[in-house]
Amino acid sequence: MKMAQPSVVLISRPSLDIDSVEEWLRDLGLEWVRSPLATPAEELIELSGRLCYMSFGTRQSPRSNREYIYNLIRQGHESVLEHASWTFLVSEVSRGFTHQLVRHRVGFAFSQLSQQYVDQKPMGVIMPRLIRESSQSSKQWTQAVEVARQAYQEILESLEREVPGADDSTDRRERRRAVRSAARSVLPEATDTRISVSANARAIRHFLRVRGSIVGDEEMRAVAARLLEIVRKEAPAVFADFDVRIEKESPLVRQVSLPPPQPD
Ligand SMILES: Cc1cc2nc3c(=O)[nH]c(=O)nc-3n(C[C@H](O)[C@H](O)[C@H](O)COP(=O)(O)OP(=O)(O)OC[C@H]3O[C@@H](n4cnc5c(N)ncnc54)[C@H](O)[C@@H]3O)c2cc1C
Repeated sequence: MKMAQPSVVLISRPSLDIDSVEEWLRDLGLEWVRSPLATPAEELIELSGRLCYMSFGTRQSPRSNREYIYNLIRQGHESVLEHASWTFLVSEVSRGFTHQLVRHRVGFAFSQLSQQYVDQKPMGVIMPRLIRESSQSSKQWTQAVEVARQAYQEILESLEREVPGADDSTDRRERRRAVRSAARSVLPEATDTRISVSANARAIRHFLRVRGSIVGDEEMRAVAARLLEIVRKEAPAVFADFDVRIEKESPLVRQVSLPPPQPD
């Protein structure tokens, strides 16, 4: 049995082909003065923003990458942030959590472990902290989970015996899917799962805003905090108006003010 300690692993990040960018600008007789500390994600956003007004060469203001991105955010020109996206492998989370996560429709892509294709017999479960801290509830919870685990195995075995066999491989696959679909209906929301999550910077900001500080949803907040920790290294300017506070040993992600404008 696992405690709710989500794992979020970054597996893909933006990169900028700077040679191609410079060649493109050279052909137009332009140049771009870059900020030496900007990350590829931040540069991708700045470049995309500058393209809107062709603010390169003599039209480029002395604004640093960081100030450029703060300005996009202040003006609500956040569509430009959509150019930067990342992919994360999220695991050690419950199906209950992912059911909420996949409600985010815009700027997200999800691929989740299938309970129809992957046997859930070695069922892992995520125990919520509130239950862990209550000896009475944790006893009940553990018993309930064990009953569900047992029922899953027994239903799976009975259906595998009872449902008529199939001839070709498609029928066999669909038979297996039907049997596992039926058996999984007894699995608890605490069943652990894995999900690949791709999201752009604007979508992540929205997610952090609406999900990061829900006091009663510890698993969601833990994922939000881990996500913020990662993306803040990837694109500090894009997430400068979020912070994490630890309250009662558990993180709370809040949106705060952007730092005031300042020269680099
Ligand atoms: C505290 C809390 C409690 C919740 N409780 C419940 C609940 O009881 N039951 C439940 O079903 N869900 C619940 N949800 C989920 C919630 O309703 C959303 O489905 C989820 O948070 C995704 O938010 P979103 O639609 O803003 O995100 P996304 O789907 O990623 O959309 C991002 C933004 O794009 C815009 N957008 C997206 N689609 C449309 C559209 N079709 N038309 C117009 N604009 C659009 C909106 O501005 C939206 O905010 C809850 C969420 C929170 C944070």
